[in-house]
Amino acid sequence: MPPSSPFDVDAFYPDAADEDKLKEECGIFGVIGVKDAASFVALGLHALQHRGQEAGGIVTHHPEHGFNQTRRFGYVRDNFTSASVMETLPGPLAIGHVRYSTAGSKGPTAIRDVQPFFGEFSMGGAAIAHNGNITNANALRRELIERGSIFQSSSDSECIIHLMARSLQRNIPERMEDALRRVEGAFSVVAMTRTKLIGVRDPLGVRPLVLGQVGDGWALSSETCALDIIGADFVREIKPGEMVVITEKGVESHFPFRPAPPRFCIFEHVYFSRPDSIIGGRSVYETREAIGMELAKESPVDADLVCPVPDSGTPAAIGYARQSGIPYGMGIIRNQYVGRTFIEPTEQIRNMGVRLKLNVNRALISGKRVILVDDSVVRGTTSRKIKEMILDAGAAEVHFRIASPPTAWPCFYGVDTPQREKLLAATMSEDEMCAHLAVDSLKFISLDGLYRAVGEAKGRDNSCPQYCDACFSGEYPVEPADMIAQGFELKAAE
Ligand code: SF4
Repeated sequence: MPPSSPFDVDAFYPDAADEDKLKEECGIFGVIGVKDAASFVALGLHALQHRGQEAGGIVTHHPEHGFNQTRRFGYVRDNFTSASVMETLPGPLAIGHVRYSTAGSKGPTAIRDVQPFFGEFSMGGAAIAHNGNITNANALRRELIERGSIFQSSSDSECIIHLMARSLQRNIPERMEDALRRVEGAFSVVAMTRTKLIGVRDPLGVRPLVLGQVGDGWALSSETCALDIIGADFVREIKPGEMVVITEKGVESHFPFRPAPPRFCIFEHVYFSRPDSIIGGRSVYETREAIGMELAKESPVDADLVCPVPDSGTPAAIGYARQSGIPYGMGIIRNQYVGRTFIEPTEQIRNMGVRLKLNVNRALISGKRVILVDDSVVRGTTSRKIKEMILDAGAAEVHFRIASPPTAWPCFYGVDTPQREKLLAATMSEDEMCAHLAVDSLKFISLDGLYRAVGEAKGRDNSCPQYCDACFSGEYPVEPADMIAQGFELKAAE
C-alpha cells in the first residue's frame, strides 16, 4: 500500500516496534436486524482493528437498493466514518472484514484482494468474509480454473465463492456447506444473503467467532470486544464445526462437518486477541496474568523490577510481578501516536526504528536488575534493540521472560509468520538465543505451563492436544497440503 502521506511514519515503518510479532490476519463482523447495519459493522471492525490494519470492507443489503459494498485501504476510522461513505451502505444487514494479508498478494495489496467477496448466484447474491487460511487453496484454485472458474483476486478465500457457484444445492447456506466441506485449514466465516446472516467455524475451531444480540438484531464477531462497542450482549461462542443461519425468525444451528476434537489457536490467548475479550468463558486479560504467574513459578530470578514490553506483554508482567513479589513498573513507554507525527522520514529517522514507538523510562530503570516480560520472540530483532535501550538507560542486568514457548514453526492457519529459517527458535536453543540477544538470562514458558495457564490443570494432553500449538510444537492439526507440495518439511515423528 503506498503511504497515504509522505509524513505518515506508520506507513513507512508499520512494524517499527512490532516487527518481532506474528501478525493475526483478519477480523470479521456481521449484523442483522438493526437500522443502519453498516454503522454497527464499522464500529465492530474498529474494535477489531488489531486483527488487521491494511484494508477493510463492508457489504450491505437493503430491500430496495440491493447489495452495496465499499472496500478501502487503511484504517476503519479513516474510511468508514464519513456520512458520504456510510450513506452508500444502507440496509439492516451487513458484514465486514479487516485485513492483514496472509494469503493473496503480499506487500502492496491489490484492492481486488480486500474482502468481503461478493458473488451473484441464480438464487441471489451472497457475500463472504473469511478469517483463517485455506491450506489446500492452491490445489482447489488449479482445479477450479481448469473447470472454467475466472478468479478476480489472488486470495485463498475466493475459492469459497467459486466452490459455492459450482454446488448443485438449491439455497446459499447449503451451497456454503458444500463449498466448505472441500476446504482444508482454518476458517471462521461470516456471510450474508439478502435475508440471512451466516456464521461458520471450521471443524477444529482454530479461529474464533462469537454470537451477540443487539436489541432485536444479532451480531457475529471475531471477538467479544467488538460486541461491547455496539452495546450487544455476548450470547455464546459459535462451536467448532457449527454453522448458524440467522434470519428475522432467530438463530438456526447446524453441524455440517464430520466432528473432530477442537484445536483452538492457543496464541489467541497469548497475543492475538484483545485483553478485554472473553475466550472459552475466561477473560483474555486474566489468562495473560495467569501466564505471567506460571512463568514466574517456572523461571524465577533475583531482580529489582518487572517491566512489560508494551502493550502486549503488560498483563503477563503484572502476573509475573504478583507471583514473584518483585515490584512492577512501566520501564518502557509506548508512543501511541507515532503514526500521526509530522516527521519527514529521512534515513536518520528510518534508523531510529524501535525508538520511534518505544522509549525507556530512565528514572525507573537506572541501576536496576530488570526482568523484561514480552509475549513472544519471533526473529529476535526487536528484543535485541529493546535490551540495548534498557542497558543504555543504566540497567544493571536484563532478564527476558517470554509468555509463550519458543516460536519454532510457521503458522499456516491465518497468521503471517516468517519462513522457518527466519524464526530465531528454529535455528537456536534457548541458551544460544540468550547468547545471541546478549542478556543475563532468557526463559520461555513451557508448553505445559501455557496449557495450565489457559485452564488445562493437567497441562497438554500429548496424545490429543486440546489446542493448536503448531508454531511451538511443530504438530500441525491439519496437514498444510499446499506448503508440503512446495517443499515444506513437517517435523519428523519422535
Ligand atoms: S500455528 Fe500457532 S498461531 Fe497458528 S493457529 Fe496454531 S497456535 Fe495459532
